Amino acid sequence: MERFDKKVYLSSPTMHGEELKFMTEAYQTNWMSTIGENINQVEKITCEKVGCKYAVALSCGTAALHLAVKLAGVKQGDKVFCSDMTFAATLNSVVYEKAEPIFIDSEYETWNMDPIALEKAFEKYPEVKVVVLANLYGTPAKLDEIVTICKKHNAILVEDAAESLGATFKGVQTGSFGNYNAISFNGNKIITGSSGGMLLTDDENAALKARKWSTQSRENAPWYQHEEIGYNYRMSNVVAGVVRGQYPYLEEHIAQKKAIYERYKEGFKDLPVKMNPYDPNVCEPNFWLSCMIIDKDTMCKQERSALVATYVKEKGKSCPTEILEKLNELNAEGRPIWKPMHMQPIYCKNDFIYVNGDIGADIFERGLCLPSDNKMTEKEQEVIIEVIKSCFK
Ligand SMILES: *Cc1c(COP(=O)(O)O)cnc(C)c1O
Repeated sequence: MERFDKKVYLSSPTMHGEELKFMTEAYQTNWMSTIGENINQVEKITCEKVGCKYAVALSCGTAALHLAVKLAGVKQGDKVFCSDMTFAATLNSVVYEKAEPIFIDSEYETWNMDPIALEKAFEKYPEVKVVVLANLYGTPAKLDEIVTICKKHNAILVEDAAESLGATFKGVQTGSFGNYNAISFNGNKIITGSSGGMLLTDDENAALKARKWSTQSRENAPWYQHEEIGYNYRMSNVVAGVVRGQYPYLEEHIAQKKAIYERYKEGFKDLPVKMNPYDPNVCEPNFWLSCMIIDKDTMCKQERSALVATYVKEKGKSCPTEILEKLNELNAEGRPIWKPMHMQPIYCKNDFIYVNGDIGADIFERGLCLPSDNKMTEKEQEVIIEVIKSCFK
């Protein structure tokens, strides 16, 4: 079988040259610190891009989520409604604050938090005051319904837009729907700083607080004076230089990712599979990761224990485990769907709210993330598509 000499990644950093210019500027002007022009600029650029009033540049998206959860007033013992099928960072900060995530199932139309399950959760736990929502793989959730439900129950919305920078819902950028929002510049995201993240809000006081907390909560005094717990969460001016150099290419990256998604969709049109869904009438994803889901009746037998996966090959049928194995042999990187949080051993005691069966478990069982690197050539993608087709022979 064919094997790529150079690995095709799931999603890897794509540099353009300007990053080095801004990093070098930081070096030459000696702003090798968490203060500097690159930081000021990326905060400004982000506000303009996302359409929020304030942005606080931080060391990572997880730090942004942590400060967002603190700004939302989450305290020890509180229950917090969280997306279930997401990367663990979405809710880690809830756990850092010793609060209890209650997981809300996904829906089939965007794979994000199901508004119906969220409403059901408020019936069961009317005291809950905070919802943490992720836009998975760059596809906006059903944001108008989620926002409406949060308003109805007087709950604060934290939007985890770490994967969805540049995606829009009804023409409005994600990362602006929550009271507090987080984006990420991790190495695998749509644009990167090698690391980095940002807290976004329209609330000036909240932004000031987050800025203070992120720099060890120093009071305005002649000495180190502290009234609150602090964190060392500020973004480095060198990292900000990378982000600053990447921003002009955000739209280009999105266009490349969209072309990848469209080519998969076209390539799979005769297969019993579907792409990760979205409604083009309401949103425009950033297409960060292309994913597929296999029709129920063409799944061969697949078993996943806590740490290993096996499958039994059947003619005309396949499963994520087989496809991931074949991609790996080709030297291309796929990945299972983010395993839902309610299926994780660490959260086995947490409540999980669903409506008609466990949709998250079903998408995890039948779905997978495809190689989505924007440096992948069309030729390479054709080979990947052929390999996946052969799994259904
Ligand atoms: C990447 C990611 C984060 C965390 O961002 P970091 O910058 O890596 O800390 C949070 N939530 C989701 C959904 C992510 O994909």
